[in-house]
Amino acid sequence: MTTNRTFTMIKPDAIANGHMGAIIDHIIKAGFKVIALKYTSLSPEMAGKFYEVHAERPFYKDLVAFMSSGPIVAAILEKDNAVADFRTVIGATDPQKADAGTIRNLYAKSIDANAVHGSDSDENAMIEGNFFFSAFERN
Ligand code: ATP
Ligand code: MG
Repeated sequence: MTTNRTFTMIKPDAIANGHMGAIIDHIIKAGFKVIALKYTSLSPEMAGKFYEVHAERPFYKDLVAFMSSGPIVAAILEKDNAVADFRTVIGATDPQKADAGTIRNLYAKSIDANAVHGSDSDENAMIEGNFFFSAFERN
């Protein structure tokens, strides 16, 4: 099943470096409609739960510490083929490998502080959107 929604977070590095507005603008200009948007922060417990799938990876502890180190923006986005198209717009996980003009190429410096998150499947887009937004916030 393919849905037309994905989920994103603007990560603490991008907020701290003043790129929040530019990244939201980039996303809208790329054709995504903002369905829900929230400026908030994650406790270590919440960040740990959000990235639970990576619990066995060597970088998990650092990832959780980083994601709870400062404010983030969470958003649900809508567009045809949203999950795949958004992954193209953000670029490779490692900003050094991200194509020119992608969000990570423009606004990120390292693999651990890579400016944005994008869901990797329709199923995870739904789970992640539900993690941040209640039903009435995401109609
Ligand atoms: P995201 O899920 O944040 O959109 P992604 O899907 O491109 O990123 P994942 O494999 O899901 O990449 O990894 C989740 C996050 O963990 C990455 O965004 C990155 O910040 C961090 N990460 C991934 N691989 C490494 C690594 N080798 N070293 C350090 N951090 C890493
Ligand atoms: Mg991922």
